[in-house]
Amino acid sequence: MDAPETRIEIADERLIPLLREGAVLECLWTGATWCEGPVYLPDGRLVWSDIPGNRLLVWQEGEAVREYLEPSHFQNGHVLDAGGRIVGCSHGERAIVRQEHDGSWKVLVGEYQGKRLNSPNDVVVAKGGSIWFTDPPYGLIQPHEGYGGTQEQPGQEVYRFDPDTGDIRVLVRGMICPNGLAFSPDETVLYVGDTAGTHTGERYWPEAHHHIMAYDLVNGEATNARLFAEVSPGFPDGFRVDVYGNVWTSSGSGVQVYAPDRTRLGEISVPEVIGNLTFGGPNGTTLFIVASSSLYRMEVNVRGATA
Ligand code: MG
Repeated sequence: MDAPETRIEIADERLIPLLREGAVLECLWTGATWCEGPVYLPDGRLVWSDIPGNRLLVWQEGEAVREYLEPSHFQNGHVLDAGGRIVGCSHGERAIVRQEHDGSWKVLVGEYQGKRLNSPNDVVVAKGGSIWFTDPPYGLIQPHEGYGGTQEQPGQEVYRFDPDTGDIRVLVRGMICPNGLAFSPDETVLYVGDTAGTHTGERYWPEAHHHIMAYDLVNGEATNARLFAEVSPGFPDGFRVDVYGNVWTSSGSGVQVYAPDRTRLGEISVPEVIGNLTFGGPNGTTLFIVASSSLYRMEVNVRGATA
């Protein structure tokens, strides 16, 4: 693939200090079907999902990209926990899984109230160790992204799971298609994307949502639901929050950046539809972007709030 053009739209000057002067967008690798779920490991590796390829891939500077796990059972989103273990969303196993220090993968939770989960999509770990994840049905309704099956849960919820006690509860009920999620740096706000618009025409969901909702987290409950951002074109499939609380989200045209006050600060153009992104690199200021078939990176001036 030719080197992508570096194109940045500054909609608000607050974006300027977040960007690295002279930085260019690089395409590091191409060859997947649909990329998602990037997680940066402290040793310099970047692991991510090729969901329809039923595999995880791994990139490292100076090394050839190779498979990290195959079959991956259609894993989607990933995050690191405080122990340095990868926590993942498995469409195929309809579960939250974790890679143990011996390399094996363990199912942490696959049911709520005696019924199987739909197909966990994206995941974050709170500072206290609880695992929060979204559970839309993409892995059930898209034959190339899972093993199929019947939806058992009455809805598509956002859950909090405590890996120490096994307690699982619904934090946000009634979203149509919850997808990406992230905390504000102080964990007082939870952001959740709703991407119902991906399948509006074919079936399912009359509301063509492509937005990020925000919730205040008070005494363990998510309250004060409000619209945070309408992402267009495309969808807030995955996003990360930087240390200042800005939200860097996927879209159909690039990485869009939103200030905590909801102002759209601008966009870094990416030539393919983005699935997800994460901060990483030796200084934590490398933005890794997984977009359709490819892995991109660009240096910025800010670190992510979490892995
Ligand atoms: Mg997603």
